[in-house]
Amino acid sequence: MKKTINIFWFRRDLRIEDNIGFAKALLGKHPVLPLFIFDSEILDDLPIDDARVTFVFERIEELQKSLLEKGSSLSVHYGKPIEIFKLLVEEYDLQNVITNRDYETYGQNRDATVKDILAEKGVGFFSYKDHVIFERDDIVKTDGSPYVVYTPYMKKWKEQFKAQIHLSVQSLPNFENLLKTSSKTQVSLKNMGFTKSSIWVPDYDLKPKSIKEYEENRNFPALDATSHVGPHLRFGTLSIRKVIEMAIVEKNEAFLQELIWREFFIQILWHFPETVKYAFKKKYDRIEWRNNELEFERWKKGITGYPLVDAGMRQLEQTGYMHNRVRMVVASFLCKHLLIDWRWGEAYFAEKLLDYDQASNVGNWQWAAGSGVDAAPYFRIFNPTSQQEKFDSKEIYVRKWINDYNQPSYPSPMIDHKTARERCLSIYKSAFY
Ligand code: FAD
Repeated sequence: MKKTINIFWFRRDLRIEDNIGFAKALLGKHPVLPLFIFDSEILDDLPIDDARVTFVFERIEELQKSLLEKGSSLSVHYGKPIEIFKLLVEEYDLQNVITNRDYETYGQNRDATVKDILAEKGVGFFSYKDHVIFERDDIVKTDGSPYVVYTPYMKKWKEQFKAQIHLSVQSLPNFENLLKTSSKTQVSLKNMGFTKSSIWVPDYDLKPKSIKEYEENRNFPALDATSHVGPHLRFGTLSIRKVIEMAIVEKNEAFLQELIWREFFIQILWHFPETVKYAFKKKYDRIEWRNNELEFERWKKGITGYPLVDAGMRQLEQTGYMHNRVRMVVASFLCKHLLIDWRWGEAYFAEKLLDYDQASNVGNWQWAAGSGVDAAPYFRIFNPTSQQEKFDSKEIYVRKWINDYNQPSYPSPMIDHKTARERCLSIYKSAFY
């Protein structure tokens, strides 16, 4: 006799506390089987030592441990979600699949297909908002259209947040309704074709002291004074409500506003999914990018001869992280100094960043290129030398990441700033007028 169950499908929400969809599933009529799928459609394109796969794998082991302690266990699979669900439908009398919403383009398409396949078998598919405070068109202008400028969005976000107290951290769910199982995880990094990465994901730091000092210090890469919550928000090892609560308790407006940038870009991607491929401001797709592959290689390797750019690119290569100020400088350098298409830079960051998030990455790259919503104007071209003088005047950050700094082996700038600036303005203008 098949067991009648509901499934809770974990994806970008790898925690059992303050997980909206998980708590809702546990309130349902049937015992809940917790499920995680290492999606081969995503994994097959990644390098064998991808740090994010190691991170997720380790978190899955922790999740497994917590569920075993509660008398249940995580059913862990590797494969295409549709195929896995077909098997689960055979094995159980499956009533509903419950999950938290994914707003990335791949995730949305995958969920639509899974929902259809399940519907054919009479199985329900329900998704909840968990990854953000406000999603989709929760925050729109009075005429119902989406905000494409950050400041009015941010103001409305704050107003609406004050009015909705239920958005706070949830109490622990009713674990009684977990399906009693004790299966061990059969999937390993090795049998999925991966090795353990040597890159380590830093713990986040939400200590009040560091949040308080955030506003003052966050722009100086050598101080490393930001929270590092990026990968934890991306994979949901930390709930957004907890982070927002901390920002509010500490009255840290600057930190709160960065978290609102995240939601701003998530709703932009949802309203304008085409911006993954195309410029938000259409005329920017007329720019004649130079797209010189050798220059792209120099940028990737951190041998442009501009120390702040090179230090950032080397930090990214070695740690999977780059400080935000430096991300802005390297992105502007690629698009404007080298006139390389922002999509190339976006794809490279997607490969390397531990905190890679499609909405934030596309949004920020389009910001740097000038083509996005609320973007840097096209004539704002960061001078990498003066940025270094301003934000790393003691050369601590550049020395940390460039071991041959000031040595004969370190290259001279691959292009003079003034020449690059003029070339950029001329190419951009010829696309517009
Ligand atoms: P903190 O400064 O402590 O900020 C806390 C959180 O606020 C971040 O983790 C993030 O969730 C959010 N946040 C902060 N700044 C931004 C921003 N500008 N846009 C959106 N959300 C923000 N962030 C990503 O999460 N994923 C990306 O793929 C990504 N790609 C980027 C690409 C470029 C070219 C640039 C300029 C920025 C990018 N960012 C991205 C934004 C930002 O650089 C990172 O969120 C931040 O550096 C992560 O470090 P932290 O967690 O210590 O940030």
